[in-house]
Amino acid sequence: MKAILIEKPEETQIVSVKDVPDAQLPEGDVLVDVAYSTMNYKDALAITGASPVVRRFPMVPGIDFSGTVAESSHPDFKPGDRVVLNGWGVGETHWGGLAERARVKGDWLVPLPAAIDLRQAAAIGTAGYTAMLCVLALERQGVTPDKGEIVVSGAAGGVGSVATALLAARGYEVVAVTGRPAEAEYLRGLGAASVIDRAELTGKIRPLAKERWAGGVDVAGSTVLANMLSMMKYRGVVATCGLAAGMDLPASVAPFILRGVTLAGVDSVMCPKPDRLEAWSRLARDLDLGKLEEMITEVPFAEVIDTAPKFLDGAVRGRIVVPITA
Ligand code: NDP
Repeated sequence: MKAILIEKPEETQIVSVKDVPDAQLPEGDVLVDVAYSTMNYKDALAITGASPVVRRFPMVPGIDFSGTVAESSHPDFKPGDRVVLNGWGVGETHWGGLAERARVKGDWLVPLPAAIDLRQAAAIGTAGYTAMLCVLALERQGVTPDKGEIVVSGAAGGVGSVATALLAARGYEVVAVTGRPAEAEYLRGLGAASVIDRAELTGKIRPLAKERWAGGVDVAGSTVLANMLSMMKYRGVVATCGLAAGMDLPASVAPFILRGVTLAGVDSVMCPKPDRLEAWSRLARDLDLGKLEEMITEVPFAEVIDTAPKFLDGAVRGRIVVPITA
């Protein structure tokens, strides 16, 4: 099978497209013909080696794929079933989706809802499913559209684009934060009520700033998240999932102890299966597939390796889909 392979014979990793015998696929009870894979921020870190995402070598990257079951000894899956996989260490410790075939544990697979096709499933990918987990986190904490505006950072990126579209479709007033003012029209097209410059969230962090938002979805961390917290309304809720600006959090406890603000952590990788099924069924119900189409850029398999650095420059808009055998 054709695969992107990350090897590390010595200090530096080597990434190339290779023909790999199927026999080298890792153990698992389901073999999937991969129709589409995707590129997420984490895949870019793995392919460029910018961060130690890959834990075993050689590794096939690709934390997501959608495809059709070819062989299965798992009771829930049979040949021909349409499935999607996100996370579980795939593309990090277990060979991932940037290959013609993947062998994985059936317990990791989600059956694709009927309303979503294989290309759309890949377009949603980890970024979109994480955006849904963030929206669910806000809902669970009682953030309803009448409470006020929801701020979304990194709005023109993958998680941010899907979060913007999902929230707008549910009737929330979305304030999209971007470092790329040129994407304002794109963000309004996804449903953002207003678009603000990232600079509004990168200034000096005050323990408490003027109350602005009822909720937030943050992909940035660091100063952006600290400022967002300080600007939350009384009992506001921020769902935090990313570190595009940094791993640190230079915040004070003031928003928590004086305004009752909640910081809800969101992890997609080890998220239990019932939550995944809920997220995918909500994506099938709530995500406007026309808006999803506006987010998609297709990257041919042969161009994946050269595209990875663009993520680290924050230059990728929306979602990247990589056709494999489709
Ligand atoms: P993308 O690269 O598609 O989007 C990230 C966006 O963040 C960029 O497009 C940019 O948007 C913004 N950004 C870039 N640099 C900075 C900066 N220095 N300060 C503030 N914002 C910045 O990545 P994804 O959407 O796929 O992922 C976003 C983040 O979420 C990543 O950190 C990723 O690792 C994390 N993540 C975590 C998951 C989890 O399970 N917890 C799952 C999925 C993703 P703009 O130009 O609009 O400002």
